[in-house]
Amino acid sequence: MREALGEIFSPAGLAALIAANLGQDDLRGQFGHDEYHFDNNAFDQGYAYLAEQRQLTLDALHRGDIPAARTAFGRLTHTAQDFYAHSNYVDLWLARQADPPPSAPAIDPVDPGLIGNPGLRSGKLYYPQEALYFFRPLREFALSILPRDSHAHMNLDSAERGLRFEYAFHAAVKRTVIEFEQVRAAISAAELSAFTA
Ligand SMILES: [Zn+2]
Repeated sequence: MREALGEIFSPAGLAALIAANLGQDDLRGQFGHDEYHFDNNAFDQGYAYLAEQRQLTLDALHRGDIPAARTAFGRLTHTAQDFYAHSNYVDLWLARQADPPPSAPAIDPVDPGLIGNPGLRSGKLYYPQEALYFFRPLREFALSILPRDSHAHMNLDSAERGLRFEYAFHAAVKRTVIEFEQVRAAISAAELSAFTA
């Protein structure tokens, strides 16, 4: 969020976006909301959620409700970023590159051949075993009992996951900018300055 939007939003505006983004991972957002996180192969639901939050952002800006606009756009950024952390997009993209691949900042986050690719998958949450993954001392054990298509095995949520995390991170930063540009293209200069102030 800071890399993508830190130069565009005021500190208070950015803080509101980040709070809404992080809020999607609270306990209420963890169960029954695959669309927030692109979990369990919920691609269509994730894309629909992005479209819904984009529309809510624009509606709020048009009526001058800046807090609501920031909440909706903050939620949108979470889902847009989780796409890269929870799917095999990075693997598919790397598989199409020459060896050695370009550096992580070169990743195209919206490769037209990949967004609707039939090989696109996202990690499945196998509860209750998946819960063990989130307790650090049990992480290795969780990985040993969970299938390869689980969230535990597939996620690129942190730098611990290795070099592919760098690709997911840069894709998420670039996608966040693209999402912002989409909103910017649909609002007036006055709405833009109120949104970012
Ligand atoms: Zn998430």
